[in-house]
Amino acid sequence: MHNHCINKLLNIEEVIVKKVIHADTFVKILLETKPREHPCPLCGSFTKRIHDYRMQAIKDLPFQTKHCYLLLKKRRYVCSCGKRFYENYRFLPRYFQRTSRLTAFIASALHDTRSITSVAEMCNVSPTTVNRILDTIVFQRPTFSHTLSIDEFKGNAGGEKYQCILVDPTKHSVLDILPSRSQTFLTSYFRGIPKAERYRVKFFVCDMWHPYTDLAKTFFPNATIIIDKYHFIRQTTWAIENVRKRLQKTMPATLRKYYKRSRSLILTRYDKLKDENKRACDLMLLYNDDLRLAHYLKEWFYRICQNPKYSEQRKEFWDWISTAEQSQLVEFEKCAATYRRWSREILNAFKYGHITNGPTEGFNNKIKVLKRSSYGIRNFEHFRTRILLTTR
Ligand SMILES: [Zn+2]
Repeated sequence: MHNHCINKLLNIEEVIVKKVIHADTFVKILLETKPREHPCPLCGSFTKRIHDYRMQAIKDLPFQTKHCYLLLKKRRYVCSCGKRFYENYRFLPRYFQRTSRLTAFIASALHDTRSITSVAEMCNVSPTTVNRILDTIVFQRPTFSHTLSIDEFKGNAGGEKYQCILVDPTKHSVLDILPSRSQTFLTSYFRGIPKAERYRVKFFVCDMWHPYTDLAKTFFPNATIIIDKYHFIRQTTWAIENVRKRLQKTMPATLRKYYKRSRSLILTRYDKLKDENKRACDLMLLYNDDLRLAHYLKEWFYRICQNPKYSEQRKEFWDWISTAEQSQLVEFEKCAATYRRWSREILNAFKYGHITNGPTEGFNNKIKVLKRSSYGIRNFEHFRTRILLTTR
């Protein structure tokens, strides 16, 4: 009766629990099975003759936060043909020293952003074992749908500084992680994708990097190229930041500190500032013509981005560019030149405002957490699998 309850708790059907030993850091559970007739693996005839026993320690799921060992009294049978063989257990793959459910538990723990070492410690196995389990998980690239976005992140894996992330932003799903963002690699990768699948892609979202747009034109000829909002708005942010930095250099030390500290005052959208911060911002701009003009251009550009009407956005975008070009602020002249060069793709971002790279940002944050918890992951395949596991 008692044993029946322990069995239920243990949740392994074919065994009898003989004893449970609790120590501070581990639990050991002594198990054996009922003898039954077994087919001989050599001749196929059935035998019940027991030859001998051997004890085997098997690692199982952590039990009450302690490492857990099953001590299995393995029975060896002998057949009339002379063959000796051990009985089989469903909960234990042959030659394994851990239960199938521990392996499954390790695989599921790899969905979290925790490190391999910490999964290994929790599960009482070596990091090598965890990595071997990771190696058995294989991800196939899902088929591309109508929207595809590409972005890079600093992964420092497989000897390359940057890796690429392919996302379907409309489905909020990671499609693939690529080892490199080099033109050579990406060309061979996209060439490997069936033409029919590539030609279905209607929108290609990327940042202002020519290799990406060149690839889009070659491999996704039916796609409208969209520059991700975050990436082009950043140009305006950089421009005003550079104006501030330039002005700071000419200021006395005390004032310089103040301007540096108040960085967020001029970067934040004016509407979003609290009243007292609005006053502080006004004061900063009052004494500085260049900064005031830069701030005006920044606010204007942010407003353009928020405008829900595409026709107005388009008109204002061009007005903004000519104003910035004539602003006599080198930082904004440069920004305007970039916008002019990428105007078609930026206007596409306004036109198809619902398509953004927002989801990619979220995934990139997860990748950062994963990298930090693991102090970097050098092996690219492991890195890729873990990113796909944690983001799906
Ligand atoms: Zn036999």
